[in-house]
Amino acid sequence: MPSEAGGAHPPVPGGAHSPVPGGTHTPVPGGTHTPVPGGARRRLVLKMSGEALASQASDETIDGLVVERLAGEIASACEDLDLELAIMVGGGNIWRGSTGAGQGIDRATSDTMGMLATVVNALALQDAIERRGHPTRVLSALHMAEVAEPYIRRRAIRHLQKGRVVIFAAGMGNPYFTTDTSAALRAAEIEAEMLLKGTHSGVDGVYSADPKVDPGAERLDRLSFMDVVTRDLRIMDLTAVTFCKDNDLPVLVFDVMGEGNLRRALAGDQIGTLIW
Ligand code: UDP
Repeated sequence: MPSEAGGAHPPVPGGAHSPVPGGTHTPVPGGTHTPVPGGARRRLVLKMSGEALASQASDETIDGLVVERLAGEIASACEDLDLELAIMVGGGNIWRGSTGAGQGIDRATSDTMGMLATVVNALALQDAIERRGHPTRVLSALHMAEVAEPYIRRRAIRHLQKGRVVIFAAGMGNPYFTTDTSAALRAAEIEAEMLLKGTHSGVDGVYSADPKVDPGAERLDRLSFMDVVTRDLRIMDLTAVTFCKDNDLPVLVFDVMGEGNLRRALAGDQIGTLIW
Protein backbone atom coordinates (compact mmCIF):
# COMPACT_ATOMS: atom_id res chain seq x y z
CA MET A 1 0.00 0.00 0.00
CA PRO A 2 1.58 3.34 -0.94
CA SER A 3 2.49 5.42 2.08
CA GLU A 4 1.27 8.96 2.57
CA ALA A 5 3.72 11.76 3.25
CA GLY A 6 3.58 11.96 7.01
CA GLY A 7 4.77 14.59 9.40
CA ALA A 8 5.30 15.32 13.04
CA HIS A 9 2.84 17.48 14.93
CA PRO A 10 4.76 20.59 15.93
CA PRO A 11 3.27 22.62 18.77
CA VAL A 12 0.57 24.99 17.72
CA PRO A 13 -0.61 28.03 19.65
CA GLY A 14 -3.76 27.12 21.48
CA GLY A 15 -6.88 29.20 21.62
CA ALA A 16 -10.45 29.27 22.64
CA HIS A 17 -12.78 27.14 20.66
CA SER A 18 -15.13 28.97 18.35
CA PRO A 19 -18.38 27.44 17.28
CA VAL A 20 -18.54 25.77 13.90
CA PRO A 21 -19.22 28.47 11.33
CA GLY A 22 -21.96 28.38 8.82
CA GLY A 23 -25.22 26.68 9.53
CA THR A 24 -27.38 28.14 6.84
CA HIS A 25 -27.02 27.10 3.28
CA THR A 26 -26.43 29.83 0.71
CA PRO A 27 -28.55 29.47 -2.41
CA VAL A 28 -26.57 28.66 -5.53
CA PRO A 29 -26.22 31.67 -7.85
CA GLY A 30 -28.16 31.11 -11.01
CA GLY A 31 -31.27 29.97 -9.21
CA THR A 32 -30.78 26.21 -9.18
CA HIS A 33 -31.25 25.94 -5.43
CA THR A 34 -34.71 24.91 -4.34
CA PRO A 35 -35.35 25.75 -0.70
CA VAL A 36 -36.38 22.76 1.37
CA PRO A 37 -39.57 23.26 3.39
CA GLY A 38 -38.80 23.84 7.06
CA GLY A 39 -35.37 25.30 6.40
CA ALA A 40 -32.36 24.85 4.17
CA ARG A 41 -30.38 21.64 4.42
CA ARG A 42 -26.72 21.63 5.30
CA ARG A 43 -24.56 20.90 2.28
CA LEU A 44 -21.26 19.24 3.12
CA VAL A 45 -18.34 17.73 1.28
CA LEU A 46 -16.62 14.80 2.94
CA LYS A 47 -13.09 13.97 1.86
CA MET A 48 -12.23 10.37 2.58
CA SER A 49 -8.79 9.03 1.84
CA GLY A 50 -8.55 5.75 -0.02
CA GLU A 51 -6.79 4.21 2.95
CA ALA A 52 -9.95 4.69 5.01
CA LEU A 53 -11.44 1.88 2.88
CA ALA A 54 -8.50 -0.46 3.35
CA SER A 55 -8.17 -3.01 6.08
CA GLN A 56 -6.22 -1.98 9.15
CA ALA A 57 -5.70 -5.59 10.18
CA SER A 58 -4.99 -7.39 6.92
CA ASP A 59 -3.54 -6.33 3.60
CA GLU A 60 -6.90 -5.88 1.88
CA THR A 61 -6.93 -2.91 -0.51
CA ILE A 62 -10.63 -2.50 0.01
CA ASP A 63 -12.11 -4.13 3.10
CA GLY A 64 -15.79 -4.93 2.62
CA LEU A 65 -16.57 -4.69 6.34
CA VAL A 66 -14.84 -1.32 6.70
CA VAL A 67 -16.64 0.06 3.66
CA GLU A 68 -19.95 -1.25 4.99
CA ARG A 69 -19.48 0.44 8.34
CA LEU A 70 -18.65 3.76 6.70
CA ALA A 71 -21.54 3.39 4.27
CA GLY A 72 -23.90 2.61 7.14
CA GLU A 73 -22.92 5.78 9.00
CA ILE A 74 -23.21 7.84 5.82
CA ALA A 75 -26.62 6.43 4.86
CA SER A 76 -28.14 6.75 8.34
CA ALA A 77 -26.76 10.28 8.82
CA CYS A 78 -28.22 11.37 5.48
CA GLU A 79 -31.61 9.89 6.40
CA ASP A 80 -31.76 11.23 9.98
CA LEU A 81 -30.05 14.59 9.58
CA ASP A 82 -31.52 15.53 6.21
CA LEU A 83 -28.15 16.49 4.75
CA GLU A 84 -26.92 17.19 1.28
CA LEU A 85 -23.72 15.19 1.15
CA ALA A 86 -21.04 14.90 -1.50
CA ILE A 87 -18.01 12.66 -0.98
CA MET A 88 -14.60 13.00 -2.60
CA VAL A 89 -12.80 9.71 -2.29
CA GLY A 90 -9.04 9.33 -2.64
CA GLY A 91 -7.09 6.50 -4.18
CA GLY A 92 -4.04 6.13 -1.94
CA ASN A 93 -4.94 2.56 -0.93
CA ILE A 94 -4.37 1.56 -4.56
CA TRP A 95 -2.07 4.07 -6.21
CA ARG A 96 -0.60 7.52 -5.71
CA GLY A 97 1.05 9.58 -8.41
CA SER A 98 4.16 10.01 -6.31
CA THR A 99 4.54 6.21 -6.00
CA GLY A 100 4.81 5.71 -9.75
CA ALA A 101 7.01 8.75 -10.20
CA GLY A 102 9.41 7.14 -7.72
CA GLN A 103 9.48 4.05 -9.94
CA GLY A 104 10.32 5.94 -13.09
CA ILE A 105 6.77 6.22 -14.43
CA ASP A 106 5.98 9.52 -16.08
CA ARG A 107 4.36 11.76 -13.44
CA ALA A 108 1.28 12.69 -15.44
CA THR A 109 0.68 9.03 -16.31
CA SER A 110 1.15 7.99 -12.72
CA ASP A 111 -1.29 10.67 -11.57
CA THR A 112 -3.83 9.42 -14.09
CA MET A 113 -3.40 5.94 -12.61
CA GLY A 114 -4.10 7.50 -9.22
CA MET A 115 -7.26 9.13 -10.52
CA LEU A 116 -8.43 5.80 -11.92
CA ALA A 117 -7.81 4.28 -8.47
CA THR A 118 -10.27 6.77 -6.99
CA VAL A 119 -12.91 5.51 -9.43
CA VAL A 120 -12.47 1.97 -8.09
CA ASN A 121 -13.00 3.26 -4.54
CA ALA A 122 -15.97 5.40 -5.59
CA LEU A 123 -17.71 2.33 -7.03
CA ALA A 124 -17.06 0.34 -3.85
CA LEU A 125 -18.55 3.15 -1.77
CA GLN A 126 -21.51 3.56 -4.10
CA ASP A 127 -22.28 -0.14 -3.92
CA ALA A 128 -22.16 -0.17 -0.12
CA ILE A 129 -24.24 2.98 0.38
CA GLU A 130 -26.90 1.80 -2.07
CA ARG A 131 -27.09 -1.58 -0.33
CA ARG A 132 -28.09 0.48 2.71
CA GLY A 133 -30.98 1.76 0.62
CA HIS A 134 -29.69 5.29 0.02
CA PRO A 135 -29.50 6.58 -3.58
CA THR A 136 -26.14 7.78 -4.89
CA ARG A 137 -24.56 9.05 -8.08
CA VAL A 138 -20.88 8.76 -9.00
CA LEU A 139 -19.73 11.79 -10.97
CA SER A 140 -16.35 11.34 -12.59
CA ALA A 141 -13.97 14.09 -13.64
CA LEU A 142 -12.58 11.70 -16.28
CA HIS A 143 -15.02 10.54 -18.92
CA MET A 144 -16.12 6.94 -18.52
CA ALA A 145 -19.67 6.92 -19.73
CA GLU A 146 -20.38 3.25 -19.04
CA VAL A 147 -19.32 3.54 -15.43
CA ALA A 148 -20.19 6.98 -14.10
CA GLU A 149 -21.85 10.23 -15.03
CA PRO A 150 -19.53 13.06 -16.05
CA TYR A 151 -18.98 15.75 -13.44
CA ILE A 152 -21.22 18.68 -14.26
CA ARG A 153 -21.53 21.22 -11.47
CA ARG A 154 -25.21 21.96 -11.86
CA ARG A 155 -26.01 18.27 -12.15
CA ALA A 156 -24.13 17.58 -8.93
CA ILE A 157 -26.19 20.22 -7.16
CA ARG A 158 -29.41 18.80 -8.59
CA HIS A 159 -28.56 15.31 -7.34
CA LEU A 160 -27.88 16.72 -3.89
CA GLN A 161 -31.18 18.58 -3.86
CA LYS A 162 -32.93 15.32 -4.72
CA GLY A 163 -31.36 13.68 -1.69
CA ARG A 164 -28.76 11.57 -3.50
CA VAL A 165 -25.29 11.18 -2.07
CA VAL A 166 -22.91 12.41 -4.74
CA ILE A 167 -19.57 10.61 -4.96
CA PHE A 168 -16.90 12.52 -6.85
CA ALA A 169 -14.47 10.23 -8.68
CA ALA A 170 -11.20 10.95 -10.48
CA GLY A 171 -10.45 14.01 -8.37
CA MET A 172 -10.62 17.08 -10.57
CA GLY A 173 -9.38 15.22 -13.65
CA ASN A 174 -5.96 16.89 -13.83
CA PRO A 175 -2.60 15.38 -12.95
CA TYR A 176 -0.36 17.09 -10.35
CA PHE A 177 -3.28 17.55 -7.97
CA THR A 178 -4.62 15.59 -5.02
CA THR A 179 -8.08 14.59 -3.95
CA ASP A 180 -7.74 17.00 -0.99
CA THR A 181 -7.43 19.90 -3.40
CA SER A 182 -10.17 18.41 -5.58
CA ALA A 183 -12.47 18.15 -2.55
CA ALA A 184 -11.85 21.80 -1.69
CA LEU A 185 -12.48 22.84 -5.28
CA ARG A 186 -15.73 20.90 -5.52
CA ALA A 187 -16.87 22.18 -2.11
CA ALA A 188 -16.42 25.76 -3.31
CA GLU A 189 -18.10 25.02 -6.64
CA ILE A 190 -21.22 23.53 -5.10
CA GLU A 191 -21.19 26.09 -2.26
CA ALA A 192 -20.85 23.58 0.53
CA GLU A 193 -20.71 25.14 3.97
CA MET A 194 -17.78 23.04 5.09
CA LEU A 195 -15.22 20.45 4.06
CA LEU A 196 -14.95 17.47 6.38
CA LYS A 197 -11.54 15.84 6.13
CA GLY A 198 -11.69 12.33 7.51
CA THR A 199 -8.27 11.01 8.42
CA HIS A 200 -7.40 7.36 8.90
CA SER A 201 -4.44 7.90 11.23
CA GLY A 202 -6.31 7.05 14.42
CA VAL A 203 -5.67 10.62 15.62
CA ASP A 204 -8.87 12.54 16.26
CA GLY A 205 -7.78 15.98 15.08
CA VAL A 206 -4.72 18.19 15.30
CA TYR A 207 -2.58 18.06 18.45
CA SER A 208 -0.15 20.43 20.15
CA ALA A 209 2.50 17.71 19.68
CA ASP A 210 2.52 14.22 18.24
CA PRO A 211 0.15 12.33 20.60
CA LYS A 212 1.78 9.01 19.72
CA VAL A 213 5.07 10.35 21.12
CA ASP A 214 4.04 12.94 23.73
CA PRO A 215 1.34 11.75 26.18
CA GLY A 216 0.81 15.38 27.26
CA ALA A 217 -0.17 16.49 23.76
CA GLU A 218 -3.52 18.28 23.65
CA ARG A 219 -6.05 18.21 20.90
CA LEU A 220 -6.68 21.66 19.46
CA ASP A 221 -10.31 22.54 18.88
CA ARG A 222 -9.56 25.36 16.50
CA LEU A 223 -6.73 26.47 14.19
CA SER A 224 -6.33 29.13 11.54
CA PHE A 225 -5.19 28.34 8.02
CA MET A 226 -2.10 30.44 8.71
CA ASP A 227 -1.26 28.19 11.69
CA VAL A 228 -1.38 25.21 9.36
CA VAL A 229 0.90 26.88 6.82
CA THR A 230 3.43 28.49 9.13
CA ARG A 231 3.80 25.41 11.31
CA ASP A 232 3.89 23.07 8.36
CA LEU A 233 1.11 20.87 9.71
CA ARG A 234 0.63 18.15 7.12
CA ILE A 235 -3.11 17.91 7.46
CA MET A 236 -3.75 18.56 3.80
CA ASP A 237 -1.44 19.55 0.98
CA LEU A 238 -0.59 23.23 0.81
CA THR A 239 -2.52 23.80 -2.41
CA ALA A 240 -5.69 22.59 -0.67
CA VAL A 241 -5.02 24.67 2.45
CA THR A 242 -4.40 27.83 0.42
CA PHE A 243 -7.51 27.21 -1.64
CA CYS A 244 -9.68 26.80 1.47
CA LYS A 245 -8.16 29.94 3.00
CA ASP A 246 -8.70 32.03 -0.13
CA ASN A 247 -12.27 30.82 -0.49
CA ASP A 248 -13.33 30.98 3.18
CA LEU A 249 -14.03 27.28 3.32
CA PRO A 250 -13.89 25.87 6.86
CA VAL A 251 -12.32 22.44 7.26
CA LEU A 252 -13.06 19.97 10.02
CA VAL A 253 -10.30 17.40 10.53
CA PHE A 254 -11.48 14.28 12.33
CA ASP A 255 -10.69 10.60 12.68
CA VAL A 256 -12.99 8.76 10.31
CA MET A 257 -11.89 5.37 11.67
CA GLY A 258 -13.42 5.84 15.14
CA GLU A 259 -16.80 4.14 15.41
CA GLY A 260 -19.55 6.77 15.14
CA ASN A 261 -17.16 9.64 14.36
CA LEU A 262 -18.32 10.05 10.81
CA ARG A 263 -21.90 10.37 11.90
CA ARG A 264 -20.93 12.84 14.64
CA ALA A 265 -18.95 14.97 12.19
CA LEU A 266 -21.87 15.01 9.77
CA ALA A 267 -24.21 15.96 12.62
CA GLY A 268 -22.04 18.99 13.44
CA ASP A 269 -20.92 17.65 16.83
CA GLN A 270 -17.75 19.14 18.23
CA ILE A 271 -15.18 16.55 17.32
CA GLY A 272 -11.77 16.87 15.72
CA THR A 273 -10.17 20.21 14.89
CA LEU A 274 -11.82 23.04 13.05
CA ILE A 275 -9.58 25.00 10.69
CA TRP A 276 -10.96 28.35 9.70
N1 UDP B 1 -4.85 12.66 -8.58
C1 UDP B 1 -4.59 13.55 -9.60
N2 UDP B 1 -5.45 14.59 -9.80
C2 UDP B 1 -6.55 14.79 -9.03
C3 UDP B 1 -6.80 13.89 -7.97
C4 UDP B 1 -5.93 12.83 -7.76
O1 UDP B 1 -3.64 13.41 -10.32
O2 UDP B 1 -7.30 15.73 -9.28
C5 UDP B 1 -3.99 11.47 -8.43
C6 UDP B 1 -2.70 11.73 -7.65
O3 UDP B 1 -1.68 10.98 -8.25
C7 UDP B 1 -3.01 11.17 -6.29
C8 UDP B 1 -3.88 9.98 -6.63
O4 UDP B 1 -4.67 10.44 -7.72
O5 UDP B 1 -1.86 10.77 -5.61
C9 UDP B 1 -4.76 9.46 -5.54
O6 UDP B 1 -5.34 10.53 -4.83
P1 UDP B 1 -4.87 10.95 -3.36
O7 UDP B 1 -3.40 10.70 -3.20
O8 UDP B 1 -5.34 12.34 -3.12
O9 UDP B 1 -5.69 9.92 -2.49
P2 UDP B 1 -5.74 9.73 -0.89
O10 UDP B 1 -4.36 9.97 -0.35
O11 UDP B 1 -6.68 10.73 -0.36
O12 UDP B 1 -6.24 8.34 -0.71
